[in-house]
Amino acid sequence: MSDSPVSCTIDLTVDGKQVGMLRVPRSSNLAGWSNLWIPIVSVANGEGPTALVIGGVHGDEPEGQIAALNLARELQPEHVAGRVIVIPCASPEASRAYTRLWPSGANLNRSFPGSPTGPADEQLAHFLSTELFPLADVIVDIHSGGRNALHLPWSEMHWVDDATQRRQMVDGMLAWNTDWCCVYIDIGGTGLLVGEAERQRKIVVSTELGGGGHVTAEIHRLAASGLANVLRHVGVLEGEVVVREKPPTILMATELDNYLLAPESGLFETLVDLGQRVEAGQPVGRMHFLERLDREPETVYAKTGGIVCVVRAVATTEQGDSIVVVARAGERSELD
Ligand SMILES: [Zn+2]
Repeated sequence: MSDSPVSCTIDLTVDGKQVGMLRVPRSSNLAGWSNLWIPIVSVANGEGPTALVIGGVHGDEPEGQIAALNLARELQPEHVAGRVIVIPCASPEASRAYTRLWPSGANLNRSFPGSPTGPADEQLAHFLSTELFPLADVIVDIHSGGRNALHLPWSEMHWVDDATQRRQMVDGMLAWNTDWCCVYIDIGGTGLLVGEAERQRKIVVSTELGGGGHVTAEIHRLAASGLANVLRHVGVLEGEVVVREKPPTILMATELDNYLLAPESGLFETLVDLGQRVEAGQPVGRMHFLERLDREPETVYAKTGGIVCVVRAVATTEQGDSIVVVARAGERSELD
């Protein structure tokens, strides 16, 4: 018997296509008795793996929400061997507000593994961790840089210790068929959705598909084609797996020195563009001080040579905010 206060209105164990809601209890000034409803779709057809696809963990990342919405609407049981569960937008109020965080200030991607007695974001995280993740063989969590960062469009993974899981995650990452694939570390704290999914030994596939507050048609196409190809690759969706002719560029952002943070609060000027190769010691940005015309801008230098893979998209910057990420160009063989 689950100790979660969150409920699901559909039975995920039966075949066919079902559309329902996750219901997260909440209480507000204007509605003492209320539920946050999060749409969920299950498309199941007999034997096969289960894939859980999640978009919109962050509200200002529409790429994954739209790809997952299209998948949820179009997918029919006859296309599936196994089960595909789709939550197109895990943070609907944040999506409506086009913000990274929930209106409460919670970051759902810092709420895992969650708690049945915590605030709504932790209750949802707990339900996902204890009720949905255990059903899944593959968990796809689609992100982008949101409003605050421009990323090279990539699929990504953490370097997990379990060699079998790691190989499966590498193959899943490559199956998105992005030009760039990134192995990264989390410098933002704990509580990631993918972290809990990795801990449960799932095949975790994630992305950072651009960002900067807007989405190009090319990125929408990449979100849709990559998602479908990953589902084909794991055997849950019908159709031929598409293999890239040219191998992707591997980005290794696995050292703290890859992540350049603002030394002071100010107005950020980038001196580099996405995809540009830089040397260690090369200036990558400058912090300007609106209140100090007498003061020279503070230059930020690359600590390592490599490829610029993230540039801050918002000029107004606080001390410690990420401004540029420089990744080492890795070899495909490093991932074996
Ligand atoms: Zn995100």
